[in-house]
Amino acid sequence: MDAERRVITDGAVAVDGTRIAAVGKAADLVARHPEADRLPGRGMVALPGLIDAHAHADQSLLRGRTDDLGWIPFLADWIGPYLSGRDPDVAVTAYRLTMAEMIRSGTTCFVSPNVDPRDDLAALTQAIDDFGLRAVLAHWVDTPAAIEPAAAAVERWDGVADGRIRLRFGLDIPRLPGDCYQPALYPAAAERAKALGAGLVSHFCSEIEDWTYYEDRFGLRPTQWAEEQGILGPSTLLINGCWLTGVETRILAETATPVVASPSATMKMASGTTPVRDLRDAGVTVALGTDGAANNNCFDLVREMKAVCLVQNASRRRWATLTAEDALEMATIEGARAIGQTDQIGSLEPGKRADVVLVDLARAHTWPVADPVSNLVYAANGADVDTVIVDGRVLLRGGELVHIDEAAILDEAAAAAARLDVLLPPRPRRWPRE
Ligand SMILES: [Zn+2]
Repeated sequence: MDAERRVITDGAVAVDGTRIAAVGKAADLVARHPEADRLPGRGMVALPGLIDAHAHADQSLLRGRTDDLGWIPFLADWIGPYLSGRDPDVAVTAYRLTMAEMIRSGTTCFVSPNVDPRDDLAALTQAIDDFGLRAVLAHWVDTPAAIEPAAAAVERWDGVADGRIRLRFGLDIPRLPGDCYQPALYPAAAERAKALGAGLVSHFCSEIEDWTYYEDRFGLRPTQWAEEQGILGPSTLLINGCWLTGVETRILAETATPVVASPSATMKMASGTTPVRDLRDAGVTVALGTDGAANNNCFDLVREMKAVCLVQNASRRRWATLTAEDALEMATIEGARAIGQTDQIGSLEPGKRADVVLVDLARAHTWPVADPVSNLVYAANGADVDTVIVDGRVLLRGGELVHIDEAAILDEAAAAAARLDVLLPPRPRRWPRE
């Protein structure tokens, strides 16, 4: 993922402390650093850590409960009651389960939008620090009164865990149902975030109803409205954008505003398809996200790379609309660009943070290896990840979590999920048949 997109066979990555010292042929690096500890990687491909730029880390406990729902009942009957009724410790448990899955599937950095103001940020950031991942937490801002508490959270928590945790505003923008348009909110939130040096994260034009809402309410396309409000720019990350049009793509390119596509979730929810090819052709940065366990049922970004290629091809009825190389860029260097961290992560280059993932391709379903990028995107899945390193710290080794008691996390998550039964509607049962 360096500028030349080099593919090095018989390669090695030298790590010194938290940073990458060198990348090259194994024989050269071993000769230069004979004393170094070594992790074997035979038959594996080494990648930059994957970046999940849309991951509701607090929703893993909803896995399997919210299938087959349209977006309005999904938000009104499930997500709303979950957020308003859960205890802060439930969110921490959900994060721990999510992060165990992320480490297992090669994700080293995630963006959690809509971090609830009632959540316990001390406990959440401690959990992220303990697990060793990198995260961007977008503190929910839905009213003018929510701006200052979010600013206080940014001032307190941005940059903790040796800089691995960053904070942003998770800005609520108007949409159906219920409108919730608050004219005093958007420019003020954008200005406050800018003064703090923090970015914005916003769900944006995900549904076809967002299209008609903005045209009826403001006489503008959603992106034209957002530009008028001053909320676009390289520090703003827009989620989904399934219904962006050509004029909007041009505005996003001119303002250097990145977008994150979540193909499995928007397919499953029948929302639509982010126009990834058009956005990339126009020069817009497009990252990749899973959305999460509530509407994608997993946080496996390896599977998401395949999904984004397939849905782009199918929606255009044109092969190679999006290639394996495009998808791998979106999951790594473009994800880093989308969150303003290309100087730190997104590629294996000397000086960058040592976030390294080894994927085992010496398996029946990923063999033979004519092209490692093809096998990684089209044949592998997250369970093929063998080793994960973040900031030089080994988090997964031989497919096993190094310092995390996974069985304890599963027990804790099952107990917390059982407590949700009183908050959420029962899942419709189809089997056994009546
Ligand atoms: Zn989302």
